Amino acid sequence: MDTAETVIALNLARAMKGEGEIEAEGAVARFVSPRAPVLTGPLTWRVRAARAGEEIWLDGWLKGAAVVECARCLEPVRHEVNTRFQVLLLHRDGAHGLTLEYDQDDDQERYVFGNPQVDLTTIVTEFFELAMPPAALCSPDCPGLDPETGRRRESGREDRRQRGDDPRWKALEDIDLPGE
Ligand SMILES: [Zn+2]
Repeated sequence: MDTAETVIALNLARAMKGEGEIEAEGAVARFVSPRAPVLTGPLTWRVRAARAGEEIWLDGWLKGAAVVECARCLEPVRHEVNTRFQVLLLHRDGAHGLTLEYDQDDDQERYVFGNPQVDLTTIVTEFFELAMPPAALCSPDCPGLDPETGRRRESGREDRRQRGDDPRWKALEDIDLPGE
């Protein structure tokens, strides 16, 4: 697999010296991690980084779309993401890669890096995932799966007819649901 296209590289050398703000942007076709969301097209990213005291403030924007399973019927659902994220980066000599550290003293999380050339792929993937809904629905009234067939129900109404005169369903139907 060609991983180069998913590396989101940013050189923080100038920001580390406090020489103003640096900006970068680009697009990735897909995520490397097999657990990451499956993109339906290029994910565009844009970041701004500037030194703030000992740290570097990173301000980023993500725009793209991915496919998730409907929480009820498991059909694929396209979800658009247009999100902003902000993180703190801290340079530490000899540190490898980009590691998230939690500082109890000020209750802040920081990404620690050693090499000014950082790969933001992990951060971008994480914030993209955070922007995805925990339970997406293909439609607000998705009837879900039929417990008997395991297939997606045609519609709530039809399903009700199939339930027949089962008193257990009758009791449920007597409950007033919003929108019925
Ligand atoms: Zn559904």
